[in-house]
Amino acid sequence: MADADRTLQPGQIVPLISQRDGDTHVVVRLTSHWRTDPLVASAVTLDTVDQSLTPAEVELAVAELPGEPFSVTSFQGRKVAGVHVRGKLPGLVITAGQHANESSGVVGALRAARHLNSHRDAHYALVALENPDGAALHHHLQATHPTHMAHAARYTALGDDLEARLKPPFGEKAARLEAIARTDARLHLSLHGYPAHEWTRPRAGYVPRGSELWTVPKGFFLIFRRHPGHDGMRFLSALTEELLSGSPELAEFNAGQQRMWQAHVGDLPFERINGIPCLITTDERSTVPFTLVTEFPDETIRGAAFHLAHTTQMRTVLVAARLYWKGLLA
Ligand SMILES: [Zn+2]
Repeated sequence: MADADRTLQPGQIVPLISQRDGDTHVVVRLTSHWRTDPLVASAVTLDTVDQSLTPAEVELAVAELPGEPFSVTSFQGRKVAGVHVRGKLPGLVITAGQHANESSGVVGALRAARHLNSHRDAHYALVALENPDGAALHHHLQATHPTHMAHAARYTALGDDLEARLKPPFGEKAARLEAIARTDARLHLSLHGYPAHEWTRPRAGYVPRGSELWTVPKGFFLIFRRHPGHDGMRFLSALTEELLSGSPELAEFNAGQQRMWQAHVGDLPFERINGIPCLITTDERSTVPFTLVTEFPDETIRGAAFHLAHTTQMRTVLVAARLYWKGLLA
């Protein structure tokens, strides 16, 4: 069994670290866990929200979206809520919060959903928070360690990466699969984030195995996966052009972070298209022919930085949807 196997289900591992005088102690306790967060929350103003949303806040925001609701229940009993808007245009799937400590995509997806209906015949399904149990843990950990990246919250309550579930029971992933089945989507927008500050000291001699790419931020970037025989470069070129030219703030942010990467690491490990690094792969990991993964360095950020993050996620959804529906991925 590979040590980077994302299908392993060791359970939710919750690191609780506190400072005490005297010797250092490590205590490992096995406990059961269930939903304890309140079911009702007051609605937040999504356009200006400056920190990650709780699962209850997301549930409430999804309930206010247009479209036919569908849902599955998470391992700990939370709702993984989706909406489906039927139209004549090609189907689109939008998901966020697969890795629940990457929280800007959740807000970006919810904000985008309120604008997508302005397209006549828009056809999409959206799951704004795929991993609510992880999000609950994220909030729990943030309360005591607000600047920690909380990678424990990346996983589900079973301890796996939900995307890696390739056979039943699919659990939380069933919402994404239903979104794909309902829309017969040719494009899946999967909104993600990554550490907003260096993970290790550059040249410290330690680089997390298998995660070398993520040790120093390199700005907002995209991962574009397509099936063999599918191109999509016209779409990607138009998307990156519009994203950067439409936001001087993002352009400045990306240029600054890439200067930092250059200074500490060297050349970017993948090509830049119109100022946005793009990692392009050809594979059949998904049943959907085209997958666009967004990566905003959003872990631990709040305030104005978080606002730029979720605004960029929202803009990516809106521009990608428009280009897709214009036929650029045909
Ligand atoms: Zn992720």
